[in-house]
Amino acid sequence: MKVFISVDMEGTTPTIRWDECEHGKGYYTTYAEQMTREVVAACEGAINAGADEIVIKDAHETGANIDITKLPECAKLIRGWSGHPYSMVFGIDSSFDAAMFIGYHSAASREGNPLSHTMSGKALYIKINGEYASEFMLFSYAAALEGVPTVFLSGDKMLCEDGKKLHPGLYTVAVKEGFGASAVCLSTAKSMKLIRENVEKALKQDLPKAKITLPRHFTVEICFKEHANANKASYYPGMKKLNGNTVLFETDDYFEVLRMIGFVL
Ligand SMILES: [Zn+2]
Repeated sequence: MKVFISVDMEGTTPTIRWDECEHGKGYYTTYAEQMTREVVAACEGAINAGADEIVIKDAHETGANIDITKLPECAKLIRGWSGHPYSMVFGIDSSFDAAMFIGYHSAASREGNPLSHTMSGKALYIKINGEYASEFMLFSYAAALEGVPTVFLSGDKMLCEDGKKLHPGLYTVAVKEGFGASAVCLSTAKSMKLIRENVEKALKQDLPKAKITLPRHFTVEICFKEHANANKASYYPGMKKLNGNTVLFETDDYFEVLRMIGFVL
């Protein structure tokens, strides 16, 4: 069994401040170590379910956070950023049996995580077909474009609830619950145990049944915090300006949504 894991940091168990997630800042190393521990727990669950090939994308900030020396022998780690529109799931293709997401966070404008954002932080919100779009939505849909089912997600509670509406076969572990600029976090011992157990359960399900059909049409609305960014984005081919801060992009091809996001955010 071949499994793809994308790992972010703002939805790992303890993080609530930007400087905890930023390379070179104060206690960053402590939180990067926890990011590694959560992906190792996911690998252990995957191996218990029969995975013999695991590809991990380090998908936070520099793409150079996970400690490769802690990973099992059957894992490969993709570090850094390729520039490919698949971005946080770069490396995924139709040869994978399942995709999983660790340490993911609520969408821009959703109050489920003190660090809620979608991509660069330029957007106040992104809506796809009227729903607030998280990075989990963007890149679990990229997995779906390759015919790969998304079966596991760990992150904040609100993202887990939002995620279940997108993927019927999704197992989730809510490692924290955001309240304003604070969060109630599980102990790291508990979150790693739950990740290990639920990844194993997720991968033991009938995986082809967990595949989703993508919408036939995509309406993507992006509201920027700064009007100058909306003005610049309005020159992307096919983009319409709705008002000073908001642009609209429509397509039937989900790859074009990802290509646009890669250029304007
Ligand atoms: Zn991140």
